[in-house]
Amino acid sequence: MTSTTTLQRLMDTTGTNPDRAFAHQLMEMLAIPVFVLDATSRVMIWNRACERLTGVASVEVIGTREHWRSFFDQERPTLADQLIQERGGDIAQLHPRPGSLHAPGAHLSAESWCDMPRVGKRRYLAADASPIFDERGKLSAVVQTLRDMTEEKHAQLALEQLATRDGLTGLANRRCFDETLHAEWARALRQRQPLSLLMVDVDNFKAYNDANGHLGGDECLKRIATAVSSEMRANDLVARYGGEEFAVILPNQSLKGAAVVAERIRTRVEQLQVPNRMAPGEHVTVSIGAATALASPENSASDLVAIADAALYRAKHMGRNRISLPVAPEQPQ
Ligand code: GH3
Ligand code: MG
Ligand code: MG
Repeated sequence: MTSTTTLQRLMDTTGTNPDRAFAHQLMEMLAIPVFVLDATSRVMIWNRACERLTGVASVEVIGTREHWRSFFDQERPTLADQLIQERGGDIAQLHPRPGSLHAPGAHLSAESWCDMPRVGKRRYLAADASPIFDERGKLSAVVQTLRDMTEEKHAQLALEQLATRDGLTGLANRRCFDETLHAEWARALRQRQPLSLLMVDVDNFKAYNDANGHLGGDECLKRIATAVSSEMRANDLVARYGGEEFAVILPNQSLKGAAVVAERIRTRVEQLQVPNRMAPGEHVTVSIGAATALASPENSASDLVAIADAALYRAKHMGRNRISLPVAPEQPQ
């Protein structure tokens, strides 16, 4: 096979050239997974650490262009293949890409989730691909090293989850709500679009807790969180604003539209039919205050929260289990 010939040329394992035999042994024994492709993307080297990482033996891939199968379910170039494609086999044709391909002779770096079909478990791999040139400056091979970053990635994702999610309901937490509201406000200002907000508060929840215990109350909050989320579009955000209060950000939504969403949420919670032990035959309900603003430099996102809060207060005052819209005349319809 062509590549076996190339491999033999590059790394003489027969022992006739002690330097090459040592280089081969060194590559094999490296704790870092490494594979090498020739300039036509054929596998020349696949070391033992790479076998361990991928579950694919070197004899299966050496001499083939099937190395992608060790990483992906569907055909996709590895970083080494991308480097070969970018260089077109010649250093003179190099087109550096900002941030990834630095200077001539430099390498590509990337991180991504890989399917690892043979291992049967996705891994997050960091890859570095470096070109090897012959004495005429022509690309002769690309060496790719890999690092398994799965544990680090999981830890990072868990931290992000902790920083932005509410532990009980899995919804966005207050911090994430504040950040999103300000970002959406800035966007609404730029794009001259309305921004709507709903404040959703569970009715008589103190009494529910008293009757069902705190854990029973927690379960109820989780069910309500799921019900509220089920009414959302892709760009909306539902957050746990505090205790038994949820907030819903509705970008580019008029007050009319926000009222429709609010009513759907109210009905959905009512339909959960979570029994209210304090009032047999009745179910847990929510009250909702809505607000919409056309963002302008004269007002701010916290004005929107204040208007929705005031509307929520009126909904409570009018008897609960209802939605309430702002009375302010300047609200866009
Ligand atoms: P209203 O209809 O006026 O909103 O009355 P309410 O009883 O719901 O309001 P109040 O503010 O008096 O009580 C809120 C209750 O929510 C009190 C608090 O113990 C409960 N609560 C807040 N956070 C949690 C939580 O995480 N889990 C549980 N189980 N209860 C919570
Ligand atoms: Mg309440
Ligand atoms: Mg409350």
